[in-house]
Amino acid sequence: MTLRPDEVGSIIKKQIQSYTATLDVSQAGSVIQVGDGIARVHGLDGVMSGEFLEFEGGVSGIALNLDEDSVGAVLMGPDSGIREGSPVRRTERMAQVPVGEGLLGRVVDALGVPLDGKGPVISTGVRNIERVAPGVITRQEVNVPLQTGIKAIDSMVPIGRGQRELIIGDRQTGKTAICLDTILNQKDTGVRCIYVAIGQKASTVARIVKTLEDMDAMSYTTLVVAAASDPAPLQYIAPYSGCAIGEEWMENGKDVLIVYDDLSKHAVAYRALSLLLRRPPGREAFPGDVFYLHSRLLERSARLDKKYGGGSITALPIIETQAGDISAYIPTNVISITDGQIYLEAELFNNGVRPAINPGLSVSRVGGAAQVKAMKKLSGPLRVELAQYRELASFAQFGSDLSKETLERLRHGERIVEMLKQPQYQPMPVEKQALVLYILTKRYLAEVEVEDIQRTQREFLEYMDKEHADIVNEIRTSGEISKEVEERLVAAIKAFLSSWR
Ligand code: ATP
Ligand code: MG
Repeated sequence: MTLRPDEVGSIIKKQIQSYTATLDVSQAGSVIQVGDGIARVHGLDGVMSGEFLEFEGGVSGIALNLDEDSVGAVLMGPDSGIREGSPVRRTERMAQVPVGEGLLGRVVDALGVPLDGKGPVISTGVRNIERVAPGVITRQEVNVPLQTGIKAIDSMVPIGRGQRELIIGDRQTGKTAICLDTILNQKDTGVRCIYVAIGQKASTVARIVKTLEDMDAMSYTTLVVAAASDPAPLQYIAPYSGCAIGEEWMENGKDVLIVYDDLSKHAVAYRALSLLLRRPPGREAFPGDVFYLHSRLLERSARLDKKYGGGSITALPIIETQAGDISAYIPTNVISITDGQIYLEAELFNNGVRPAINPGLSVSRVGGAAQVKAMKKLSGPLRVELAQYRELASFAQFGSDLSKETLERLRHGERIVEMLKQPQYQPMPVEKQALVLYILTKRYLAEVEVEDIQRTQREFLEYMDKEHADIVNEIRTSGEISKEVEERLVAAIKAFLSSWR
């Protein structure tokens, strides 16, 4: 082969002629203004809404306002190192979190960075924190129970896997306690738990981690923490991050329970950054899209059809009310999004009725289909009797001559209230709940003094475990009390009561 210099030369010349240096300037911008965790950036042409940005000094941000000649971004870290003119780089992706098995037992921040000092998170991949909720086709009916282990809830406001049940109440009424007990009760059920702490004190979160560790619940639990001291943008994205972690498991066929503690603080964080971004304020100074803020999050809870993985995400969002006002803006929004609510009342709590569930205002809109048969049968009249009792009790304070029937109802109501009390960290398995409800609703406790109810319950369950473990087992495995089991149960109860007296 011979080389022809003129030909080689002409090719090189041609290439030089057609060379144009394309410098891509759309990938970088510069800060015009920074302050209060917000930066206005010039020159990020083509940036996506919600895109992850990188600022000087390793601080990241999210582009939220796309204006004509600038971009408003929220910063996920301290803005002290960022000056006017600092460079900003596009990443061409949305905010993401690591997902996978490696997150179990870990405490991470809203971007999946570990906070527990146990080394890096070993993830199987990353997911966008925001995603469109599963559609109608991919879903299936909610009909598998999610046992909370709390008698008052599993009997009167049962929760199903894939449901969204709001926990609402004033401060210090046991909202977190209910969710923690529910997490503890998921041990050995295969349900994975995610606890998202939004805007809480770091010391509170540390106590929760310690409780979960002490109770051996961390092995199936992940905590996503955006504490009160974290910037508002991190508090804003934390629930979406937690949800993304859960979605990965759901799509792999696992059942997931996620607690958002709490969405009031989430709305407040979002309000703060919306106002700083100069979005127009609306009712209670919240921005106009605060409904969408929570609806797009809670819609992501679902029970997927078998064809699409078959897993589920059950959500327990928490809302804190002010002086019991459930008709304020954020509470009504979230009530209308969820499939029911558990309303906790400060007055009940202070009177020692704990968990302080108000049976009249608490509902579960799908739970009935997802209740164990035995419980469904026994708890039917419970709600009504309890509601009647509360009405009568407020009445009976005034009058003295009450009819025999009224007195009877009051006596029964007192026993129901007493029996539904339950200490913290003691979730009760469903077969035990069924036994307790059985002796309660069949009026075997009519003669027992109210002060002795809790003790009777404890001793009765011990007695059943010791003497009639077969009955307990049968109820556990079948989920119902058959005629034949019922006969044996009645005999056992009679034997217990006669020995107890
Ligand atoms: P906050 O508004 O501060 O988040 P909260 O509504 O989440 O409060 P918790 O922190 O769960 O309430 O509970 C408040 C207090 O009540 C705690 O000290 C807790 O130990 C106690 N408590 C909660 N539930 C029960 C219960 N069933 N029995 C006894 N004590 C309880
Ligand atoms: Mg709490």
